[in-house]
Amino acid sequence: MVEHARKALIAGNWKMNLDHLQAIALVQKLAWTLKDRNFQSTTVEVAVFPPFTDLRSVQTLIAADKLDIGLGAQDLSRHDSGAHTGEVSGAFLSALACDYVLVGHSERRADHGETDEVCLAKVQAALRHKLTPVLCVGETAEDLEKVGAAAVPVSQLTTVLEGISADDEIVVAYEPVWAIGSGTPATAEQAEEVCSTLRDTIRNVHGDEAAERTRILYGGSVKSSNIAGLMRGANVDGALVGGASLDAEEFAAIAQFEKHVTVD
Ligand code: PEP
Repeated sequence: MVEHARKALIAGNWKMNLDHLQAIALVQKLAWTLKDRNFQSTTVEVAVFPPFTDLRSVQTLIAADKLDIGLGAQDLSRHDSGAHTGEVSGAFLSALACDYVLVGHSERRADHGETDEVCLAKVQAALRHKLTPVLCVGETAEDLEKVGAAAVPVSQLTTVLEGISADDEIVVAYEPVWAIGSGTPATAEQAEEVCSTLRDTIRNVHGDEAAERTRILYGGSVKSSNIAGLMRGANVDGALVGGASLDAEEFAAIAQFEKHVTVD
């Protein structure tokens, strides 16, 4: 088993799936499954990122049953309040006891034209409200062909790092866009190489302490059958899981990557 320098984070991005009743059922099943499997949260943290309309229900369940499951939102407004119809403030997410918020998921960058500058403003908004932003970065298939794997994610991360301070806590999720929802993850070597370059980027901008402290996740077609191999990378501190996080058994098995015999 690989010794990890940072506590691993296995984060489930539900995307636009499950209403609040289905959300309660999934979190209950996830909690039972983790308990049945004797999951230890000392070295691995599990968090779910349901749609906005589910957050209150999931928060209530987590609090009532004292579940060891973190809570995150999938987006937030760069503004704190006011005339921004349809937007959700970080203040409201904080009031719902959210721990995390995704920023700059490739689906938001593509569907809503979110630029690196918008992502920076959202990261700053999250930090203002004591939420830990999970900044998603990653290259498209076209970027990969033209400039290789690391150039785009490094540039996306650099813009954000330059607008925050070394003490600010963020999580970085390296998600090659071509791997998301495709069934074909990056290889463990590819994931480690880019995550290691992203850590060097943090080191260059904010120094050693921030580089060693910051968790860098891999995301893109993660399953229980490939997570152990991906987690062998010294710079891969967990996973952002999309489709597979909607299945309690599968997500719990991913969270227990430490027990897997590597099968990739
Ligand atoms: C994601 O949407 O962040 C993701 C990684 O999706 P999937 O695991 O389904 O590829």
